[in-house]
Formats: sequence, C-alpha cells, structure tokens
Amino acid sequence: MIPFNKPFLTGKETDYIKDAVESGKISGNGKYTQRCQEYFEQRYGFRKCLLTTSCTDALEMAAILLDIKEGDEVIMPAYTFVSTANAFVLRGARIVFADSSKEHPNLDASNIEQLITPNTKVIVVVHYAGDACDMKAIMELAEKHHLFVVEDAAQSIDNFFITHHDRKPLGGIGHLAAFSFHETKNIISGEGGMLVVNDERFVLRAEIIWEKGTNRSQFFRGEVDKYGWVDIGSSFLPSEVIAAFLFAQLENLDEIQQKRKLLWNTYNELFSKENKMELLLPKTPVYSTNNAHMFYVVCKNVTQRSNIIAHLKSHHMLSVFHYISLHTSPFYKDKHDGRNLPHTDRFTDCLLRLPMYYDLQVDDIHRIVSTVNTTHG
Ligand SMILES: *Cc1c(COP(=O)(O)O)cnc(C)c1O
Repeated sequence: MIPFNKPFLTGKETDYIKDAVESGKISGNGKYTQRCQEYFEQRYGFRKCLLTTSCTDALEMAAILLDIKEGDEVIMPAYTFVSTANAFVLRGARIVFADSSKEHPNLDASNIEQLITPNTKVIVVVHYAGDACDMKAIMELAEKHHLFVVEDAAQSIDNFFITHHDRKPLGGIGHLAAFSFHETKNIISGEGGMLVVNDERFVLRAEIIWEKGTNRSQFFRGEVDKYGWVDIGSSFLPSEVIAAFLFAQLENLDEIQQKRKLLWNTYNELFSKENKMELLLPKTPVYSTNNAHMFYVVCKNVTQRSNIIAHLKSHHMLSVFHYISLHTSPFYKDKHDGRNLPHTDRFTDCLLRLPMYYDLQVDDIHRIVSTVNTTHG
C-alpha cells in the first residue's frame, strides 16, 4: 500500500527527546524550544518566533493580538482549512470569503479591494501548496486601507516570494504569520506550530498571550522582578518533547527539501510526458519558488476525480481531494453573504492530491503516474 502521507524520522529525534527528559525539564520554553525559535529567526530573519502546539493555536494568538472583536471583518480565501477562519470567528469576526484565482487555489489579489469595508481589519492569506500569494499587491492594499496581514504559512516552510531584486521568505512578510508542523507538512513534530511576529509592536504582548496572560518570559529574562496576570492568554506552548523532535527535523531541513523537490519534479516530468486524463498540472506563480509541499492535479470534473481515486485505490495507492469551500460549509453557509465563488468551487470538486512524503520513492511515483494514466472515464 502506498499511503497518502507517512511520518518519518531523520535520525536524532529520539536522542533529543531522551536528552530533554534527562536534562530534567520537559515543560515548555526550554532549551529545544529556544533552539527551534532561534533557528527560524536566524535562517529567515523573522523578528520573533514562538513555538505553539499547532498552527491553529498560532492563528488564534494572531486573532487575539490583533484585538479582533464582534463585527470586525476578516477577508480570507474560502478554499482553506477550517482553522484559518475559526481562529477569527472565535473572537466574533465576520468572515468575508474571497474567491481563488482561475489558475491557482490561492486567493485572487485583484479581487480583494472590492471586499474591503470600513469594518475590515485583517486580510489573511493562505499560501496553498506552499506557493506564495501575490504579497506585493496584498501588502500595498493593506497599507492603503490600514489593514493587518496575517500569513497562514502552514504549508510554506522554506519558500519565498520573488521580487525584482530579491526574495523574501514566506511567513516574514505579513504583520504576523503561522506555521504548522503537523505530520502532513514538510517538517513535522506530530502536532506543532509556530507564531511569527514580524511587527515589533506585537512582540511583547505575543509572549504574554503565549504564557497564559502572564509576563513570565520577561521575569525569566530579569526584566521584571515578579510575574503575574497582566492580559488575556492561554497555554499555547508545546512541551520540550515536541520541540526536541522538531529540532532534529530542522537540522535536516535542506535534505528533506531536496528529497521532496526530487519527488515533485518526478511527478511533474512524468505527467508532462504522458497525461492521458488531460489533467491540469500545478502552476507555480512567477513570483513564487516551489517548496514541494504537495503535488496536486486538477481533474476535468468530480466524476473523473472519483474514478481516479477509485482506480488508484484498487491498486493500493491512496490519493485524496482537499478542502470543501468554507462558504458552503454547514457552519458558515447561512452566515456567508451569498456571493458565488466559482473558482473555489471548481477546486473543491476537481483538485486531487497524490502521495507525497519524505520516504516515498521515485519508483513509487512511476507506478502512481502510470496507474492514473490507465484510469477509465
Ligand atoms: C495544516 C494547516 C492548518 C492547521 O495546522 P495545525 O498545525 O494542524 O493546526 C491551517 N491552515 C492550513 C492552510 C493548513 O494547511
């Protein structure tokens, strides 16, 4: 059986977990948490990183930090994971869903301005399949209308937005960003995530919200002489056991990325040679690098997609579709303003993800692609 996803070890995970236990501290914000955070701050120049127990938690922290209140409007794509929206709904926001662009599940930046009202407070972008959204257009729009930008960077570790003269790491462009280390992402710790604070104004308060509304972090740095309850917050820190696992993976990030890119390119080359089902292949936008998070194809219709899933399954290979547009979800459909989002609907019906994980072999991909190509219908 070729599964859709499989967790993997890179070598030192269990050594570091053992070390954390033996060093006598496995609660949060210890040695391994700090090493992981410094890794990201140094490698990508992120202003401040805080490990969390999930990307969902990091998004919830973002909504708290931005003081989202009843009646605030938040613009985001409808083609995303439920946590992107839930984090803001929990604080009373109304979600204004934007359509995907025709060629890519990412939201269409040229469609955002018409959705802005005096109540709009935040634009949340989701870098789908790791591919960058049009961050230049989005940051300019945000500045013009005095909005905040949050990057849902769950899938976009080690990926970049390309401009004329340089490249910026995704997660380092918006005011805040959220990463995921869930077992389905490129770098994993089972469950896990990280909040990135790029705007200096949020750094101190982010730490307080992270530490249950206390100024404990400042106390341990010797900046205040006692610590107490100073704000709202929650328990967003992961244990050192998770951070130790994560740090072992981060040490092998380049190797992991190299392998995933090999797998991605193999899919792309094989389908470019033979594509009997006339599937659309993923198009990385010109302003994005490719971090090989996912290999997806876009089928002609939902029937063709079901046929391919069934055919692969009968050959012991698992493929899966992805998001059901949030504007049509049981929870939100009555709250949605009724606009049609045709491109989002098309990706809901037609997008199909093929197996992609570190231990997958090039040979497996040959078998998967030839099996897709022999589907009937
Ligand atoms: C995986 C994912 C999340 C949720 O991540 P968790 O770490 O599981 O909370 C949120 N948004 C997107 C776009 C994702 O892909």
